[in-house]
Amino acid sequence: MSGRAGPRVRLSPIDHLDSRSMNDAADRATTLRAYADETAGCTRCPLAVTRTQVVFGSGNPDADLLFVGEAPGFYEDQNGVPFVGQAGKLLDKLLAGIGLERSDIFIANVLKCRPPQNRDPLAEEIEACEPHLFRQIELIQPRLVATLGNFATKLLSGKPVGITRVHGQEQTVSLGGNGVVLYPLYHPAAALYTPSMLKVLEEDFGRIPALVERSAVATGAREQHAVTPPAVPDAEPATISAAGAEQDTVQLGLF
Ligand code: URA
Repeated sequence: MSGRAGPRVRLSPIDHLDSRSMNDAADRATTLRAYADETAGCTRCPLAVTRTQVVFGSGNPDADLLFVGEAPGFYEDQNGVPFVGQAGKLLDKLLAGIGLERSDIFIANVLKCRPPQNRDPLAEEIEACEPHLFRQIELIQPRLVATLGNFATKLLSGKPVGITRVHGQEQTVSLGGNGVVLYPLYHPAAALYTPSMLKVLEEDFGRIPALVERSAVATGAREQHAVTPPAVPDAEPATISAAGAEQDTVQLGLF
């Protein structure tokens, strides 16, 4: 989508006005990678004792679109990559439905470590872990942040309002020093076995491409950069993954 290293979300003519260079993308990837390395040894909360590994996040460090889920489950804890279980398969399907794949986006969670038995995150775990998410947002500078479920939505909106009331309603918030459009969605795990919820999730997903475009305008994204054509307009984005489980399409010395 953008004139950053390559199209993150391949949607918009606005991208041609976006002039972030290949260097910007490489710097972003390097910094995010360094932060992931730092986070790998995190002991900010007791989940450090029970986890197999920190699940930092994966995808494109230069993405316009960031998804934020709740916490790693069993498979994520084993693989080091978010959303690789059943909910992840549904997420992939929903992404494909709007013409996207994982290399177009970045996915992270509120908690980077699996809570035992996949229980809900505790307030103190969220508090301990949130600096990691806020730093990720600061580094990635997404235009649109799609929160999946209650925990991500409440944390990033700063409001206690539940997902049933706010799903599908975009709001502009300030995150990581930038204006960002926040877009709350039902969590795919919740939609897996509830057809009516899945239908709503699909409908809400359907608005994402237009929202990414709009958010570029609403947030004045990258307006500080000069308007020049991207250096490598058709370059495929690099992907980042704590476990190296995804293929890098451009080698930028990433995961
Ligand atoms: N659910 C989440 O919220 N995150 C994951 O990574 C997997 C399932």
